Amino acid sequence: MEKVLKQLSQWALDKKSENKKYFAKLKKRPPKNLDYLMQELHEQEFERTDCLACANCCKTTGPLFTNNDIERIAKHFRQKPQQLIDTYLRIDEENDYVLQEVPCPFLGPDNYCSIYDVRPKACREFPHTDRKKFQQIRHLTIKNTAICPAAYNIVEEMKRRIPV
Ligand code: SF4
Ligand code: SF4
Repeated sequence: MEKVLKQLSQWALDKKSENKKYFAKLKKRPPKNLDYLMQELHEQEFERTDCLACANCCKTTGPLFTNNDIERIAKHFRQKPQQLIDTYLRIDEENDYVLQEVPCPFLGPDNYCSIYDVRPKACREFPHTDRKKFQQIRHLTIKNTAICPAAYNIVEEMKRRIPV
């Protein structure tokens, strides 16, 4: 996995223009069963992907924290939401709460998430490859292929299995 992660951003860069063209065409003519196909590709990829050997999302990019996330995590620590905000979060350019720094402070040295059961919604959904109307998040997906080896593989498999 380490070897893959070292090369992933270059691989993603090499495929960027091909991927942009693919998603532009997909957006114009998405197959009727795209949601079903994405669910299948997502499940197949995550059956063979060991996130605990990776944790690249937690190490290089943080989630955004919704108010519900903040309240839930603060409750878990028996803190006031403001305490959690002051300790770990900042507001970004888009006015969202994000981590003050990465790697995420909740990530352990063994790549386990110490707040797994109450982790932010964005962490649960990353890399969003089983999302409905997947073609609508193409910019985010292309960005994620440089961070997440599973997202990279899913997009490569999409191009093979869902020709446009
Ligand atoms: S909260 Fe957990 S899953 Fe989310 S980035 Fe931090 S360590 Fe990773
Ligand atoms: S979701 Fe992607 S980046 Fe995150 S740990 Fe799993 S494979 Fe790695």
